[in-house]
Amino acid sequence: MQSNINIQSGNMIDKQHAINYSEGDDWRHLPSLHQRLIESAIEAATRAYAPYSKFKVGAALVNHEETIITGNNQENASYPMCNCAEQVALQKTYSDNRETKVKLFAVVALNGNAELIAAPCGACRQVLCETVNRSGTDFPIIMASQSGAYRIFHSVKDLLPFSFEGKDLTS
Ligand SMILES: [Zn+2]
Repeated sequence: MQSNINIQSGNMIDKQHAINYSEGDDWRHLPSLHQRLIESAIEAATRAYAPYSKFKVGAALVNHEETIITGNNQENASYPMCNCAEQVALQKTYSDNRETKVKLFAVVALNGNAELIAAPCGACRQVLCETVNRSGTDFPIIMASQSGAYRIFHSVKDLLPFSFEGKDLTS
């Protein structure tokens, strides 16, 4: 819904922000690494602990050593304590090796709707951006459905424009 409050300022200009992403209807046609990562994310989702939401999420990443690391959502009866799959995967990765670099990341949700293309929540986008900043390496994210449809965002930064970053704390 658009505000009808009219703002007038002599030096204000309207701007736009565009993001680039790719979309397809069958990730089984993507390169084998992409496919393996999505399959790993689906497998991880089957092991999720989601007794409350029944919304099982799996995440998988491949690092610069070609190792695949997975995570899934871990819920808690105290809802704010729930952990997202994306963050679990990144915590596993960086607690083992703080110098590692993510090359490619995939996320999938199993909630009974095979068409659903999973999307990281806002908190996970913040954590993903921190991963880019700490490693100095941006990476693509695949958001995939079980049935085949997918989106690939080529830069994590596109998922959270104008993000709050560590450098903001010191400037
Ligand atoms: Zn999340």
